[in-house]
Amino acid sequence: MDRVLSVSLGEIALKGLNRKYFEDQLIKQIRRAIKDLGIEKIYKEQGKIYIEGEAANYSQMMNRLKKVFGLVYISPCYRVEKDVDQISLASIEAVKELKDKRKIKTFKVDTNRADKSFPIKSPEFSKKMGGIILRSFDDLNVDVHNPDMYLYIDIKQNAYVYTERIKGYGGLPIGTNGKGLLLLSGGIDSPVAGFMMAKRGIELSCVHYHSYPFTSERAEEKVKDLAHILARYTGKLNIFSVNLLDIQKQINTKCPEDEMTILSRRFMMRIGEKIANDHQMNALITGENLGQVASQTIYGLNVTNQAVNLPVFRPLIGFDKVDIIKIAKDIETYDTSIMPFEDCCTVFLPKHPVTRPKVEDIIQSEEALDVNILIDSAIDNMKTYTIE
Ligand code: ATP
Ligand code: MG
Repeated sequence: MDRVLSVSLGEIALKGLNRKYFEDQLIKQIRRAIKDLGIEKIYKEQGKIYIEGEAANYSQMMNRLKKVFGLVYISPCYRVEKDVDQISLASIEAVKELKDKRKIKTFKVDTNRADKSFPIKSPEFSKKMGGIILRSFDDLNVDVHNPDMYLYIDIKQNAYVYTERIKGYGGLPIGTNGKGLLLLSGGIDSPVAGFMMAKRGIELSCVHYHSYPFTSERAEEKVKDLAHILARYTGKLNIFSVNLLDIQKQINTKCPEDEMTILSRRFMMRIGEKIANDHQMNALITGENLGQVASQTIYGLNVTNQAVNLPVFRPLIGFDKVDIIKIAKDIETYDTSIMPFEDCCTVFLPKHPVTRPKVEDIIQSEEALDVNILIDSAIDNMKTYTIE
């Protein structure tokens, strides 16, 4: 009886001709996530991926695998030959193990016979195994509607027996949908936006804008902490750190006060686009949301959008704040996000920001600024960090 981990694919299973590519990318991400935990072998068998390694590390491996996008379930399995006696032994063992972990009174057997040459059909095989479990455990009964546990038996090239399915996030493996640049502030929304697009297979990098020395070094550390948490899902992450202070000062002296936020937002977009183009990235990602704050009205978003040509992904656009917070807590960025450090946007915050900016007015205000010189100089002075 060997112990292995099985990984069930979600959407990847629906891919036609590209399926192999997606599976291979997922295997690459699995390797990345657990490479230091003693993998011996990773192989595919009829629709699932199996991992063989140091069994003592399986629970730690599962914790990390939960954060790998593209998989829906992980199960610790017994792998045996397709033989009734061996499957029975493994089933008894698996049930015993789960009974030690939690209280179980009822069970149901769920057989999946992928190998049609196996002579016993699934329902019949489930019944047979059910009988064996009933005879082995006096205190268990069958409940086919609402059992306390399932005993899963997959009959393929080998037979796999397991009782637990630990949920992953689904989505698609990172790297299967190009690269994107996340505008990462220190707030609640942008880390969630990055998480959501990474879950759709985008390889992330981040850009953060600060106003040092008006904003503190600690505020920048906070952003690095957030990137560290995101890196649990994405693996290695680059952060481009850009000082926006000269730009903000020039806007502050040369433009109408109520346009400060929207004008700096357009600079953030433009600088982001330039970095993205320089690094072969295909989209910008923000945590913007319709109506959440004064700068995020439909008019404001329009004017911000028109500063760039790259597509801007705003996965949170239609979410209520409570729902964003729920995700932030689940992905563990929330506690860091709410730490009280100043953001560059707050440095020259107007008392009454425009909520219905017109693109013509904004373009006219920008004529007073050395837009290209400011952008180039901000990028020349940019710092780059790599978060492992
Ligand atoms: P967040 O919680 O992500 O900060 P928010 O609700 O506070 O969002 P804004 O401050 O208006 O909203 O920012 C909208 C979006 O603009 C952010 O989600 C982020 O993508 C980007 N952004 C804002 N400030 C910065 C910054 N200092 N550096 C990088 N991106 C930023
Ligand atoms: Mg913010």
